[in-house]
Amino acid sequence: MKKLLTLLTLLPLTLLAHLNIAVSYPYIGALTKSIGGEHINTVVLAKGNWDPHFVIPRPSLITKVRNADALIMNGGQLEIGWLPPLINRAGNPRTSPRASSFLNLSHHIELINKPVDVDRKDGDIHPDGNPHFHLNPNNILLLAGVIKKFLISLDHEHQEVYEKNYASFLSSWSEKIKGWEQKMAAKKGMKVIQFHDNLAYFNQAYGLQNIGTIEPLPGIPPSSKHTFKIIELIKEQKPCCILHDVYHSTKTAEYISSKTGIKIVLMPHDINSLESIDDLGSLFDHLTEAVQ
Ligand SMILES: [Zn+2]
Repeated sequence: MKKLLTLLTLLPLTLLAHLNIAVSYPYIGALTKSIGGEHINTVVLAKGNWDPHFVIPRPSLITKVRNADALIMNGGQLEIGWLPPLINRAGNPRTSPRASSFLNLSHHIELINKPVDVDRKDGDIHPDGNPHFHLNPNNILLLAGVIKKFLISLDHEHQEVYEKNYASFLSSWSEKIKGWEQKMAAKKGMKVIQFHDNLAYFNQAYGLQNIGTIEPLPGIPPSSKHTFKIIELIKEQKPCCILHDVYHSTKTAEYISSKTGIKIVLMPHDINSLESIDDLGSLFDHLTEAVQ
């Protein structure tokens, strides 16, 4: 009986010309498309210029999950506030976290900056560690391999195509990584401030030193007490700039800048988070250029 049910679940996948894969964020969509090519359709749920932690689970998104053959999420609690309700309402067995057609990318990455103190978890939206791991281009390479394996497990028939697309992605992305490393080499050790700790993995990849965030804790809005601490820190340690995400107000950063003269640099976190960022390569081109 169990075998029959498995067969029934898998059968339509082989009959379809395309696999319909729902993904939570644009970067996952682009990566999946690079490997899947013509054999898959990707349906991206969140827009690139939205706060990835806070997506509104609109009815149109429920329909997208309901019609998907598979689902790929970032994980690490990044989607905790919005994706589980969508999955529940969609009621699609193929997008259930227990299904073999469900992939949680965070299970393949060692998360950094895990809170050590239990009290720090109060309201902290990074309780399992920092979930913004795709902003290290080396992790993109690792995730490409994970997605390749996932696509092959869903669709053995096109294994060769997925292997070939992966090999070609591996070679072009490795070249790009070399270029970004060269661009960032002179910036190693540079001190930065962020609004939200989006760039933990980017900073780690290139040896940038994050000395403080304008948010007292991830997801907790700035307070005047903490803002004054940051102003003192900037005066004392002279970081180059405030690396600011595109979706929070820059009001507090501007106030801090007016007191210290520090530069504010907008840092995109995903494809389409700024108009000029239309693929994964241009995301890292922009990020490696912006830090000065
Ligand atoms: Zn975050």
